[in-house]
Amino acid sequence: MENISVNSLGHLTFCGMDTLSVARDFGTPLYVMDEVSVRKECRKFKDSITEYYDGKGLVCYASKALCCVYMCRLIAEEGLGLDVSSAGEIYTALKAGFDPEKIVFHGNFKTDAELDYALENKIGRIEADGFGELRRLAALAAAKGVTANVLLRVKPGVDAHTHEFIQTGQIDSKFGVALENGEAFAAVKEALSYGSISLKCLGCHIGSQIFEIEPFCHTAEIMLEFAAKIKNELGYEVPELNLGGGFGIKYTQVDTPADTAECIKAVSARVKAKCKELGLDVPFIMLEPGRKIVGDKGLTLYTVGEVKEIPNVRTYVIADGGMTDNPRYMLYQAEYEVINASRADKPKDSTVTVCGRTCESGDKIGEGLKLQQTVPGDILAVLSTGAYNYSMSSNYNRIPKPAAVFIKDNRIITAVRRQTLDDVISNDVL
Ligand SMILES: *Cc1c(COP(=O)(O)O)cnc(C)c1O
Repeated sequence: MENISVNSLGHLTFCGMDTLSVARDFGTPLYVMDEVSVRKECRKFKDSITEYYDGKGLVCYASKALCCVYMCRLIAEEGLGLDVSSAGEIYTALKAGFDPEKIVFHGNFKTDAELDYALENKIGRIEADGFGELRRLAALAAAKGVTANVLLRVKPGVDAHTHEFIQTGQIDSKFGVALENGEAFAAVKEALSYGSISLKCLGCHIGSQIFEIEPFCHTAEIMLEFAAKIKNELGYEVPELNLGGGFGIKYTQVDTPADTAECIKAVSARVKAKCKELGLDVPFIMLEPGRKIVGDKGLTLYTVGEVKEIPNVRTYVIADGGMTDNPRYMLYQAEYEVINASRADKPKDSTVTVCGRTCESGDKIGEGLKLQQTVPGDILAVLSTGAYNYSMSSNYNRIPKPAAVFIKDNRIITAVRRQTLDDVISNDVL
């Protein structure tokens, strides 16, 4: 992570601030974001599209990675678009004053009420994830007397980690319509038959935490070949191509993600070359980074509650948070780097399991973690928790959700306040 260091007291600093002071002033657990770095990443994406793709594109931040009004405002200020996947995310964006024209509404199932809500609010692009949704969307738009601007989600059949075109692998996905069995082509044909639908965009999203550039290039080519088939056989040129997100970040030392600018440079070149080869106009392009914008731009601070040493078994370092604010280890054994922020100048000479406080044995932040000698009261920093942490948090065991703060120019701004006990029972009928 950038902007972390150790001060003369041996404390971990983040963006020049002593994390122990931040923890004392705002309480723990606490999500802490580096606003300057988030904005820098946004500009990197935007500037790369300008430089390598003649500005003919829109970078949409995938809000599910970290969604709150503050974050939506920041993204609007940076001139990016926004991905949403529920009425809740749309509502958050609209509350932030986000331009609906720059919002893309994704998701493998959207209720009629949500589709109506999106049409009502003139959301820029609404994804049709399959035939059923396409038909519902066409009917709902027709009933309203409006045209839905649609993105058709395609399964390009690419395995992001081998970048092979897989005949069977990718077809088993709950998202989108498949290319290889003709489903996607049939969906395009059907979309073009509806007066209430304007097919604006072909979209895909091949996975997440992808380190290499080639899968994106390879996918773009497959999608363009599909666009060419549509043009040749149906006489319609789909004007936009959405390549999704999935740009990887560094969680631990073993991760080696590609540089954003390098990736966009390569993809741009390949898209232009392929369009020339196929006789297509260069499409307006959309990219949807989530993790890359926020993931390694934030950390979580915890207070160590207890340390339980089980001789010859393991040592549990028990934090005052856990799966309720970060379920990623439970979900998919996600790995993190953990630092004892109170003793950041000391060597990491112990091996521990950092666990949470809920009534679940699986509630862990990580196992086999290298950590400084740790005692109750120490502050722990778990790095690169900016994405898919707050947005995946829960109130299990009726534990209040933590606050989220942004550091900017030596100021700390509360973006999401800590839940109170009254918040926890706020929907209970008393
Ligand atoms: C989740 C998702 C993204 C963002 O993925 P990241 O790995 O966070 O970049 C983008 N587009 C779609 C359609 C998604 O579902």
